[in-house]
Amino acid sequence: MTLPPGLGRELSAILGKDGFFDDPIHRRVYDSDAYPHEHLAPAAVALPRTVEQVQEVVRACRRHDVSFTPRGAGTGLSGGALPLDGGLQIGLARMHRILDIDPFERVARVEAGVVNLDLKKAAARHGLTFAPDPSSESACTLGGNFAGNSGGPHCLKYGVMLPHVLGAKIVTPEGELLELGGRWDPGEGLDLLALLVGSEGTGGIVVELTLRLVPLEPARSTFLAVFETIDDAASAVSRLVARGIVPAALELVDRVMMQAVEEAYGFGFPVDAGAVLLIEIDGPEAAMPVEAQRIEEICRKKGCREFRTARSDTERAQLWKARKHAFGAVGRLSPNYATQDGVVPRAEIPRICEFIYETARRHGVTVGVVLHAGDGNLHPALFYDERDEESVEAAMKASGEIIGACIELGGSPTGEHGVGLEKREFLPLIYGPTEMAAQADIRDALDPTGRCNPGKVLPGEGGEGDRLRVVGRQVSA
Ligand SMILES: Cc1cc2nc3c(=O)[nH]c(=O)nc-3n(C[C@H](O)[C@H](O)[C@H](O)COP(=O)(O)OP(=O)(O)OC[C@H]3O[C@@H](n4cnc5c(N)ncnc54)[C@H](O)[C@@H]3O)c2cc1C
Repeated sequence: MTLPPGLGRELSAILGKDGFFDDPIHRRVYDSDAYPHEHLAPAAVALPRTVEQVQEVVRACRRHDVSFTPRGAGTGLSGGALPLDGGLQIGLARMHRILDIDPFERVARVEAGVVNLDLKKAAARHGLTFAPDPSSESACTLGGNFAGNSGGPHCLKYGVMLPHVLGAKIVTPEGELLELGGRWDPGEGLDLLALLVGSEGTGGIVVELTLRLVPLEPARSTFLAVFETIDDAASAVSRLVARGIVPAALELVDRVMMQAVEEAYGFGFPVDAGAVLLIEIDGPEAAMPVEAQRIEEICRKKGCREFRTARSDTERAQLWKARKHAFGAVGRLSPNYATQDGVVPRAEIPRICEFIYETARRHGVTVGVVLHAGDGNLHPALFYDERDEESVEAAMKASGEIIGACIELGGSPTGEHGVGLEKREFLPLIYGPTEMAAQADIRDALDPTGRCNPGKVLPGEGGEGDRLRVVGRQVSA
């Protein structure tokens, strides 16, 4: 798609020389996100700095009937920020001011392009934190977190994005400014805020957020429990939860991922173990030893061969680096990998893990698995080489089968990465026609002309951009 004559000039006038780009090099930067597929570049890129600029840009798109797709940091793993029909990309990354932190009310007001970790750092100066912690927290934006209802390891205890959003300002697909909720939301009427959290950029552009902060707990302890088999680790997870223990985080890392991490960072982690559990508890100082003892006992009963406690902040940081940078470490083992994001009921973790390894073996694909085990949310990373068509095909087939199995086991095709482009064909497998029609109606009501992030979330909405490529070859979306 090329922009209609006149729109480029209008957008340049709104955004200034450094806020609008339609040259091939700048556009190329936006032809992908963290979803492992190349895509059509947008026709042009708008990088507004103010709410008014976002409104003016959207209104200009309306006048010229051009579609637009919001983008935060582009760390999304389901292709949500890709402008499918090659329309206008609206990047929010320059709207990155923390507008206000109120330590007494424990509330922050931020622009949508603020990076998640930057808010955490600012809140920490007041003894507070922002709980949702995607592993991409050092890059992803709060607007992207809102759009994806994102979570992270500590969401087992603290919940995903939704309960932490008090209010939002959203530029509607028509260019109006919708102000929802807020610090003292009266809470009357239909809950539009909850409707829009997780709407993946299809209901408008989030420009400002009012967010709940929580106090940093006075104490926390982090443990590494080492198991011979992934089955033992998974059954320890079920037992911990069944015994009423709700750790702040409960993560499982399998042998392949542990080996990748060890090769990358050399922290001295056990590379011969079947799996490890990374367990963190937080709360009052006095509760730590008792809780630690209970957790160790349960893990030992389930076959834990070694139980390490982080003795310092450095050791704790190393444990978390092992988990949060696990996917980065995979780069040493494989030129490419595709991460999946299925969910199963916790009790089904051993079965789905067995299925993942068996499926990968059958397709000749190497797989490494990390799980937000407490939530039954699994992230198998399937290795492939984009220069080798057969390896791409095998990884994509295995990936689809794994998601199919999650659904059959009573789970879902996505836990936190969103539907975006990648998972939209899976939705009718978990919802009936009535639920699908209700979603389509809501979408039409929010965006009657279908210009805002077209082709995402709901199945069957195509665009030129369905010509997705894994470098040089066609794959189905
Ligand atoms: C290494 C790695 C680890 C990850 N770990 C996690 C994890 O633990 N948990 C998790 O939930 N996710 C995780 N993700 C996925 C991703 O980081 C999150 O989905 C994140 O919230 C995306 O934020 P972003 O700013 O990069 O958004 P983008 O990728 O730019 O966009 C994502 C979606 O949000 C929409 N969007 C973005 N900004 C706005 C806005 N201002 N208004 C309206 N719509 C908007 C886009 O249109 C798109 O649909 C991970 C990704 C990577 C690469």
